[in-house]
Amino acid sequence: MSDVIQLLPDAIANQIAAGEVVQRPASALKELLENAVDAGATQVQVVVKESGKQLIQVIDNGKGMSATDARMSFERHATSKIRSSNDLFSIRTFGFRGEALASIAAVAQVELKTRQAESELGTLIHIEGSEVKKQEPFAGNVGTSVSMKNLFYNVPARRNFLKSNPVEMRHIVDEFQRVALSYNEIGFSLFQQDLEVYCLTPGKLSHRIVGLFGKNYQGQLVPCEELTPHVNVKGYIGKPENAKKTRGEQFFFVNNRFIKSSYLNHAVSSAFEGLLQSDQHPFYVLFLEIDPSHIDINVHPTKTEIKFDDERTIYAVIRSAVKQALGAHHVVPSLDFSL
Ligand code: ADP
Ligand code: MG
Repeated sequence: MSDVIQLLPDAIANQIAAGEVVQRPASALKELLENAVDAGATQVQVVVKESGKQLIQVIDNGKGMSATDARMSFERHATSKIRSSNDLFSIRTFGFRGEALASIAAVAQVELKTRQAESELGTLIHIEGSEVKKQEPFAGNVGTSVSMKNLFYNVPARRNFLKSNPVEMRHIVDEFQRVALSYNEIGFSLFQQDLEVYCLTPGKLSHRIVGLFGKNYQGQLVPCEELTPHVNVKGYIGKPENAKKTRGEQFFFVNNRFIKSSYLNHAVSSAFEGLLQSDQHPFYVLFLEIDPSHIDINVHPTKTEIKFDDERTIYAVIRSAVKQALGAHHVVPSLDFSL
């Protein structure tokens, strides 16, 4: 009998891994934005062409990379953010898998420009389909710019699977909003085909919410806060009159990471009981702070799902925080005396 098992070449392994990390332009944007935040940027600019199908560029003024790190950053499981499995339980950065850049470079044409403050020259790298086409010194600003061009140029089946430009742009705006909300002290801008979609200056969270969702939220946000030994809840809820028929504008962040949880959504909507019609959904932006040892963020590759070791307590704290906020601001249900 002959042996038949072989290790896959890196380019193929990266392409397979990319299937988990990069489903669409917006998922690449999420990874690039998170890298910019992890790099300590205070200004982040996003340029999008053709809803990200042609180009997504993220330019940051963060700490940049050395020439060696710039090359290493495209290797799979190459990360500066964790070193041992113990670190998995105290993650404070967005990234830690070391998969994003390797995945993106496997399925797109990528140009990286990066410079550290202490080096006079930075590094420019062109890489496509995991193959480095060019690496050379480069004179430019401190920080990092990553351009992702022609996503899935080498995987036609996946390229065809992308949705229409409006749908892909909606996903891009969603990702942009999530990161911009959780880092109100960072300036963010978003350009689509040279048109400015957002230009957000650093400022308070309430200011950021108005910048993202419009002036109708000005003066309409109710602060919400509850501090307990297990979890802190802080943020804003919208007044019932700002409730929408769609669920779009509802945000939970756990240790500044956006998460989806229908269970916790329910904690908020149940606190609004009696204030809203059954088809209306309240606006909220709530930040939960919790000891990282009580959560597991490693359950899903795109990391929007999370496991809490005590979900019921968190539910109760959120519900009580929202109820208190509504009560303190006299947004309580009017009593029906006709009964
Ligand atoms: P991860 O973020 O999980 O570590 P990535 O593939 O996203 O994995 O990035 C690999 C490494 O490249 C990061 O750990 C970081 O050291 C470096 N890096 C990526 N993007 C940037 C950036 N914008 N600025 C500085 N360093 C970066
Ligand atoms: Mg990353």
